Amino acid sequence: MTATALQPVEPAPGDETPGHHPALPDGRHTQRGGTNGRVLVLNASYEPINVCTVRRAAVLVLKERAEVLEHATWSLHAESFTMARPVVIRLITYVRIPRDAHSRKITRRAVFARDGWSCQYCGSKHGSLTVDHVIPRSKGGGSTWENIVTCCAPCNRRKGDRLPKQADMHPRQAPKPPPATIFVHVATQRVPDQWQQYLPA
Ligand SMILES: [Zn+2]
Repeated sequence: MTATALQPVEPAPGDETPGHHPALPDGRHTQRGGTNGRVLVLNASYEPINVCTVRRAAVLVLKERAEVLEHATWSLHAESFTMARPVVIRLITYVRIPRDAHSRKITRRAVFARDGWSCQYCGSKHGSLTVDHVIPRSKGGGSTWENIVTCCAPCNRRKGDRLPKQADMHPRQAPKPPPATIFVHVATQRVPDQWQQYLPA
């Protein structure tokens, strides 16, 4: 299976066609509610598979491709309908997704999310975060989950192009690939309470 299996929960051609759902609220009116305008998407099997925008979730629900499991206490209002703001939705049809689809892709945000948005050398959560190759690329270190950690700018400057031993700087936790649900933490630094019961402990 390839990433194309993800398409049903990504904006598909046609879904965003102007006039298709002209009455849908635009993003500016869907940002309140403390969940950063994001909706947790579960597979038909209740397995979390993605995070999408409120607008995208509303389209899936209107097209009867998803059902709302959790919603906010306030509603989305549009010309032709009123809908409780979706917080967690479930796809009606099971979508086959590689178990490691999300953890295979290394991005800065995914590294930050895996490391709890904190420097793996000093623990700082403040200031600008960067990513550091534990074994520098110049010394043969690869761009793999096992060799990339979140690092604050001062620590990055201090470590420079040295090996952990040379700099006497070692990651607090041995870096490893993140769990399959890393996308949840990439999407939002604060996971909404209403999502918790659907996420693996
Ligand atoms: Zn640091």
